[in-house]
Amino acid sequence: MKFLVFISLLVSGWYILRWLQQFENGRRLNRERGAGRRNGTQPRRMMRTTDTILCKRCGTYVPSDFPTACDRGDCPFPGIG
Ligand SMILES: [Zn+2]
Repeated sequence: MKFLVFISLLVSGWYILRWLQQFENGRRLNRERGAGRRNGTQPRRMMRTTDTILCKRCGTYVPSDFPTACDRGDCPFPGIG
């Protein structure tokens, strides 16, 4: 019976270690992603949490929840005025 307890402890310990590693990996990925964004040429106000999508025609980033057209006539996004 002692052997069984030892095995279960070993297995649970291994699982905890794996979970911790995954957690740490996720944190590092997030940090690298954030650093890459900070090194970009985008102004600081673009750091907001709102998602942006890239306009395939003009190459500018527009907010995905409220896309607006640029000056180009062939822009795929609908313009407002
Ligand atoms: Zn555009």
